[in-house]
Amino acid sequence: MKKQIAIIGGGPSAFLLSAFLDSEKFAITIYEKNKTCGRKFLVAGKGGFNLTHSEPIDQLVKRYTPNDFLTAALLHFDNTDFRKWLERIGISTFVGSSNRVYPVKGIKPIEVLTAILGSLKENGVVLNYESIFTGWDVNGKTIINKEAVEADFTVFSLGGGSWKVTGSEGDWLQTFANKGIKTKPFHASNCSNQIDWKPDFIQKHEGAPLKNIAVSCQQIVQKGEAVITKFGLEGNAIYGLSPIIRQMLVSNNKAPIFIDFKPSLTLENIQSKIETSNYRNRTETLKKDLKLSAPQIDLLKSYLSKESYLSADSLAKNIKNFPLEIVGVAPVDEAISTVGGIDLSAVSENFELHKIQNQFCIGEMLDWDAPTGGYLLQACASTGVYLANFLNKNK
Ligand SMILES: Cc1cc2nc3c(=O)[nH]c(=O)nc-3n(C[C@H](O)[C@H](O)[C@H](O)COP(=O)(O)OP(=O)(O)OC[C@H]3O[C@@H](n4cnc5c(N)ncnc54)[C@H](O)[C@@H]3O)c2cc1C
Repeated sequence: MKKQIAIIGGGPSAFLLSAFLDSEKFAITIYEKNKTCGRKFLVAGKGGFNLTHSEPIDQLVKRYTPNDFLTAALLHFDNTDFRKWLERIGISTFVGSSNRVYPVKGIKPIEVLTAILGSLKENGVVLNYESIFTGWDVNGKTIINKEAVEADFTVFSLGGGSWKVTGSEGDWLQTFANKGIKTKPFHASNCSNQIDWKPDFIQKHEGAPLKNIAVSCQQIVQKGEAVITKFGLEGNAIYGLSPIIRQMLVSNNKAPIFIDFKPSLTLENIQSKIETSNYRNRTETLKKDLKLSAPQIDLLKSYLSKESYLSADSLAKNIKNFPLEIVGVAPVDEAISTVGGIDLSAVSENFELHKIQNQFCIGEMLDWDAPTGGYLLQACASTGVYLANFLNKNK
């Protein structure tokens, strides 16, 4: 007789788990609280839909914090495997200029979800909607819609704590804590960072992008783009610094960051361009010789003293290392992802809860962190497939 697997939460980590489970061996049921599943996956699809990132796997595994917890899963089912699987279910992907992986043009997020759900159907997966997990009964069986669920194995894939509107409310945190499972409060990651802009500057440049920059915090450097918002800065050039910024905010209430407006030029290159410029006017030099954008020039103008702006040496140094201070982060619900959830010490290397035998946790509900750009979905997929193959082989 087949063994019963109950998967609670219907997001990407649950999808990959149930697609790879051996349906000859297991009867697979997903319990999802919403009327549909994959709502956060569809939200991710509304922006740049980064399914994974194409960088070499030895670099990719280093993007995660802590950097060892997910390695076995990521190596077991890596970014190439993920793309091959998507191709097999009819979703071709391409690598964009930033090395992120997207569905090919013309394929809508809902079509990706439909293809995934189609593959689950082929694997005999049963989807039960409007099914809400609320805890365990005295025998350790999970309770869904007030009834104990008969299952040989239970996998939780309840997601993080942001974008509650998608169903990933994180309200299970207390339920797990009450059961004696170590949890951590949710914190925002990949979110807007608060900067107290000068009023004149923000009035003029709200919404403007800072393109091709590098942002650093405590020697950690992230290249990319950031958008100036009324609240502060957001975008991939700063999202990757979330762990260090969070750490500094906890210890100092502020996090100094430095922007390199010209990562492709050395300090000496910039200095020489300023010194040998044919333009008399400094702003013209920045615009024409250094190709700085209007918001970049205005940042330098509004934040530097007149002497610093006019000194080639000081101006060049500020173009390479412009200081700003992060004083807070956006509320958890607005973040692309969260850290916190199930403490990593609460699960084994196969994601099994130490407290409850044969019950596992995968995906974003575990306390790991990664920048946006495909790394989040890759980790959700990898934890799902890793666990599927562990169960296929050992149970
Ligand atoms: C705006 C935005 C953009 C993003 N863009 C990207 C991107 O481009 N690339 C990328 O890699 N990642 C992106 N992400 C992150 C990515 O979507 C998530 O990391 C991923 O969806 C997490 O998958 P999961 O399976 O762990 O959980 P989720 O997708 O959160 O799924 C969890 C499911 O569990 C259900 N659930 C919760 N509680 C219960 C309960 N008590 N009972 C039953 N069911 C329950 C929820 O309804 C939900 O359907 C983005 C996220 C957001 C918000």
